Amino acid sequence: MHNEHDMPALAPRDDASHGPYGTDGTDGTDCRGCGTCCRKGGPALHAQDLELFRAGHLAPEHCLTLRAGELARDLDGELRPLERELVKLRPRQILRQSARGGDWSCLFLNQADNRCSIYAHRPAECRALLCRDTWAIRTLHAVDRVTRLDVLAAWAEGVVERAGVPGGCADPGVPWADILAAHEERCGYGVLAPVGTVGAGLRRAADELRARTPGMVHPVPLSGEPGDPAATDESAHAVEAFLEAVRFDFAFRSIVRERAGVAMEELDFLLGRTLAATAVMYGVAVRMISDGPELVVLPG
Ligand code: SF4
Repeated sequence: MHNEHDMPALAPRDDASHGPYGTDGTDGTDCRGCGTCCRKGGPALHAQDLELFRAGHLAPEHCLTLRAGELARDLDGELRPLERELVKLRPRQILRQSARGGDWSCLFLNQADNRCSIYAHRPAECRALLCRDTWAIRTLHAVDRVTRLDVLAAWAEGVVERAGVPGGCADPGVPWADILAAHEERCGYGVLAPVGTVGAGLRRAADELRARTPGMVHPVPLSGEPGDPAATDESAHAVEAFLEAVRFDFAFRSIVRERAGVAMEELDFLLGRTLAATAVMYGVAVRMISDGPELVVLPG
């Protein structure tokens, strides 16, 4: 999945009176608690949600960052590059290699009964969204969205207030702003975006390879070998530049994980999804072989 389900989520009921809102006079709305919105992805987080981190109801490991320039679906269902980074509740499973699809259900959705396991402390978008009347969510959607640094600050404050151990994401000795900036400088979508040289070169090479390989049913390597469209100067540069960024991204994550003592799930918040996972936005995919990552073109 490439952010196709970057949509806010509906809040299913978590009390015993499961059934349409309004039938028991609770709030006059008509949410049926079907959980459909929560399956489309967790909510983007806003300033009023920072208190949930201070209080310990949410933690960095519960979040996923979509970085500036990453494609995301807006409220009207259109895929567009994000102008600014977006922090949201993560799905239960995050794809780290290139792939399509995936389950984007919010990690707090109980699949068996469509109940929200943090209902009393659910984020603002979950409170605002009603699928039959989107006025409230449209009003809230782009307002006061948090950044990674906002979340880190709130989380660190809360850990100290709760007399916890300020390690990992709460470690005041880790220069998070510098680390995130260093990652963006080498792996930012500003360099690799679809309209940029690298992104456009990859997309062109992938389209050309597909055109030369009618009826392809398996991924085909985009290798730069003779006959490969990546052998043209522009495309070869795009392939190499992207692979270089992918290698840097993997190495950077390992270093951050090791030195800052953060969990894999926290990396998805700190550094966003891997470049390898988002390669599909350029019409290519990353496959790991013995020599390291290689690019392949996916059928269709
Ligand atoms: S936090 Fe709860 S209400 Fe919000 S998307 Fe997740 S499961 Fe749904």
